[in-house]
Amino acid sequence: MRRPMVAGNWKMHGTRASVAELIEGLVNLALPGSVDVAVFPTSLHIGLVAECLEGTSIVVGAQNAAHETGQGALTGEVSPGQVVDMGCKFVLVGHSERRQIMGETNSVLNHKFAAAQASGLTPILCVGETLEEREAGKTLEVVGRQLDSIIEELGIDAFVNAVIAYEPVWAIGTGLTASPQQAQDVHAEIRAQLAKENAEVAQGVRLLYGGSVKAANAAELFGMPDIDGGLIGGASLNADEFGAIIRAAGN
Ligand code: PEP
Repeated sequence: MRRPMVAGNWKMHGTRASVAELIEGLVNLALPGSVDVAVFPTSLHIGLVAECLEGTSIVVGAQNAAHETGQGALTGEVSPGQVVDMGCKFVLVGHSERRQIMGETNSVLNHKFAAAQASGLTPILCVGETLEEREAGKTLEVVGRQLDSIIEELGIDAFVNAVIAYEPVWAIGTGLTASPQQAQDVHAEIRAQLAKENAEVAQGVRLLYGGSVKAANAAELFGMPDIDGGLIGGASLNADEFGAIIRAAGN
């Protein structure tokens, strides 16, 4: 039985004041004990958030960490070990904004994924197709390649301690959501692809859906058999909306 998970990606949002306000809203939520909840503030705010959430059931993750485990001369980066030191448990790897805007390739992401695990973080690998790729019928090919890149480089066991988020690029921040069936179809294929390598790993790995999830559509999405929760962008910046999404995952 996979435990549902809801993760809030705050992206490049927040000031000290707005982050403090959001945390206050989060700690006052009545949350179901059956759902794992994580929030991903900017690197700047990780320390503040981790401190304020200490002793609560909400854990903190990083939106990004370097491809190397150690510290050293890498201006502007933070190492996975440093984010662990600040209290993080998870790290996003391969969010489409980083793939597309920052030019992160599958090869770079393999290193980031491995460095995260070697440092004690659980990576959340984001995969997904653009609108153009979907319309060309290439969704499964694109997602399959993104997954294969990790499997070929690190082996299927890399997914024993990892989470996968299927995030169609056309649904991120656009207000367009994959229908529950569209999302389920891709999730089922992801699980089937992993099962070809190892059925037990495939059954155990949590597959989150991301892309304009809100309180109004969460229950239907999370009701699908291979959708184990969500990676939430915009809606995670509002504590009440995020709380409603978490409760939908617990039902
Ligand atoms: C995301 O950034 O991972 C995301 C899913 O964003 P949104 O919920 O705003 O579409």
